[in-house]
Amino acid sequence: MNKTTMEFEDSSSVVYVDSTETTVSCRGVGKNLGHPEVFLTFDGASSVRCYYCGREFRKHAAE
Ligand SMILES: [Zn+2]
Repeated sequence: MNKTTMEFEDSSSVVYVDSTETTVSCRGVGKNLGHPEVFLTFDGASSVRCYYCGREFRKHAAE
C-alpha cells in the first residue's frame, strides 16, 4: 500500500496568508501531491482556490 503516506486535507485545507497579499504561489501539499508552481491572484476576493490541488488560500481577517 503506497497510496497514502501521510494524512493531509485536500479540498478542505485552508492556507491563511497576510491580508496585504495580492498573489500567492502554490506547489501542492506533500511530495505526492505536489504540482507545478502556480500563482493565484486574489483579484479583490478574500480567498482563492488552487485549481491543481484544491487548497484554499484565505486572507487573514482584519481584526
Ligand atoms: Zn495547489
